[in-house]
Amino acid sequence: MSTLLRQLPQVDALLASPGMAGLLSAYSRQEVADTLRSALQALRADLKAGRLNQLPDFANEAFAQSLADRIEAERQPNLRPAINATGIIIHTNLGRARLAPEALAAIQAVGADHSNLELDLDTGRRGSRHTHVEHLICELTGAEAALVVNNCAAAVLLSLMATAQGRKVVASRGELIEIGGAFRLPDVIQQSGAVLSEVGTTNKTRAKDYAEAIDPDTAVLLKSHTSNYQIVGFTHTPGRDELAALAHATGTILMEDLGSGVLVDLSPYGLRNEPVVSDVLASGVDIVMFSGDKLLGGLNAASSQDVLNSSVV
Ligand SMILES: *Cc1c(COP(=O)(O)O)cnc(C)c1O
Repeated sequence: MSTLLRQLPQVDALLASPGMAGLLSAYSRQEVADTLRSALQALRADLKAGRLNQLPDFANEAFAQSLADRIEAERQPNLRPAINATGIIIHTNLGRARLAPEALAAIQAVGADHSNLELDLDTGRRGSRHTHVEHLICELTGAEAALVVNNCAAAVLLSLMATAQGRKVVASRGELIEIGGAFRLPDVIQQSGAVLSEVGTTNKTRAKDYAEAIDPDTAVLLKSHTSNYQIVGFTHTPGRDELAALAHATGTILMEDLGSGVLVDLSPYGLRNEPVVSDVLASGVDIVMFSGDKLLGGLNAASSQDVLNSSVV
C-alpha cells in the first residue's frame, strides 16, 4: 500500500502531462486541477482503506475521460426538473405550483431585457418596485393596500416586526404550526422580536381565551391556517368576526397567516377548507398573509426561512 501511495502523482505534474491536454482545451485549468485533486484524494483514501490494490493508468484516455465525466457532473445545475409522483399536487419539496405558460412568457419578455422595475414611466423618475401588482391584489382581494415579498414566511416575519416588536402576540395552541420543516410559528414570532402568548388548548380555543390574554402590552391577535394537518373531533375555534370585534375593541391588530389562500372559491372543484382572501378581509381581519407559489401558482423563490413569493395584504 505504501509503495502505491508513493506512486500517486502530484497534481502539477499530472496537469503538465500530455494526457491532460485535451481536458485543458475543453475546460478551465481551475476545473481540471480541482477535479484532479479530488480524484487523487479519492484514490488515496481507497488505497488506505484497502479498497484498491492497483493505480489507474494516468496516461490512459480512460482516466482523462473519468475526469471529464466528473467535470460535466459538477457543471450540471443543481436545480433541475423532477417528476412529482407523490400524489400531492402542490408539494413544498418539489417546487410547489408549476408556472402557467402565460407567466413563463411574461418572465421571458421582461427578464430578457431591461425593464421599468424601479422607474416611473410617466415621470421618468425613480419608481417603486412595490407598486407593480399592488392595484391588482387590491382589486382581487378588496384590500386597502398590498405588498409582495419573497414568501409567506417572510410576510409573517415582516408583518410581526412592523406591528409587534417588543410586544405580545396572542396565538391559539391549536395553531402553532410547522410548515415545510423550516417555518415554525413560535420561532418566527421570536425572530420578529415579539413575545408569543399561547392561549387555549390544542383542540379548543375560545374568544374568551384571547380576551383574557390581552393586556396593554398586546399588539396582535394572530390566527394561522392549519394547512398541513387537521384537528378533528371535540374542537372549537372562534369565528373571525368574533376575533375582529375583540381586536378592534381592544386596539389590537387581527392578523391571519392564510398559508396558501385563494382568490376565488375552489370548493366547487373539490378543494374545500381553503379560505378565500377577500372573505377573510371582509370578516374584519386587518392583515392577511398568503403564499404566492401555492394555489396562486406563482414563483417559488427560495426556502421559507432564509429569504423572504408571498403577499402581505
Ligand atoms: C406554506 C405556509 C407558510 C410558508 O409559506 P412560504 O411561502 O413557503 O414561506 C406559512 N404559513 C402557512 C399557514 C403555510 O401554509
